[in-house]
Amino acid sequence: MTENDQSSTTASRISTYMLTIVLIILALSIMALLFAVSAFVVGDQVVAGYLLIIGFITMGLSTYLLLQSRKRVANLKIEAPKIMTTIECIKCGLKSVREFQRGDYVYKELDKCQKCDDKMTITAIYKEVKEKEKTYNV
Ligand SMILES: [Zn+2]
Repeated sequence: MTENDQSSTTASRISTYMLTIVLIILALSIMALLFAVSAFVVGDQVVAGYLLIIGFITMGLSTYLLLQSRKRVANLKIEAPKIMTTIECIKCGLKSVREFQRGDYVYKELDKCQKCDDKMTITAIYKEVKEKEKTYNV
């Protein structure tokens, strides 16, 4: 399952990058708010007002970025296609699909069939493709 591992590390790399930006913006917004308070104490209400606005805008921006990065990580997780294994009973045709497990290969014989006690065989291993992915844009 190297593919799943790859996409999850990419996701965490993006979130770390985004988190750094968010923290910098958040620090700037806190600084702006602190300056606003000090300007207000000094008596410069116009400057205090401006700094207050800047502080709130940057704080809003960092919150927005944080939410966006979370969404992106969630999307990346969905994007990774699942590998499915189809198991079939050759004798009676009983079919079941489950997630790929390590060691699966086509024509591998598995546990006994629930219906006829004959051995179940893996007939197909494939990637599950979701239609939603096609409309997803970065
Ligand atoms: Zn069977």
